[in-house]
Amino acid sequence: MSANISSDSSKPLSEVFRLLGQQVRIQILLIIGKQEACVCHLEAELGIRQATISQHLMALKDAKLVTTRRHGRNIFYRLANPELLDIIYQAGTMMGISTEDLAYLSRRPVPNCPCPHCKPGWNGGPPGHRWRCWRPAYRSRPARLPTPI
Ligand SMILES: [Zn+2]
Repeated sequence: MSANISSDSSKPLSEVFRLLGQQVRIQILLIIGKQEACVCHLEAELGIRQATISQHLMALKDAKLVTTRRHGRNIFYRLANPELLDIIYQAGTMMGISTEDLAYLSRRPVPNCPCPHCKPGWNGGPPGHRWRCWRPAYRSRPARLPTPI
């Protein structure tokens, strides 16, 4: 193998590990690793703003590590390739972190989470259901009028 081929293949690898180099992104991937989640679930679990979570999800999606599924007006995020979770688990095991600790973020339901996956008896919802991936506080805000051109 020539040096050029070797450096070419190492570039995308270093890019993936650079993307994974933020704690919150590892947390997001652990949360969605076994079951898809919407932004409001991630917000309830991590306690950080949706806007911040969305930026991280965008970076992970751009890198094709995460894919989305639209359900009505809501978007659910999941791993594009489940092997990524194996890599994170292997790294965790290498660091002496227990599987139980690693699996903690993927638990359902999360207390006080408004998402449908955390509601008891959720079966995907009836057609045309009105649940939205927003907290009640956001929903009660008046709708923003379109900016005049
Ligand atoms: Zn939830």
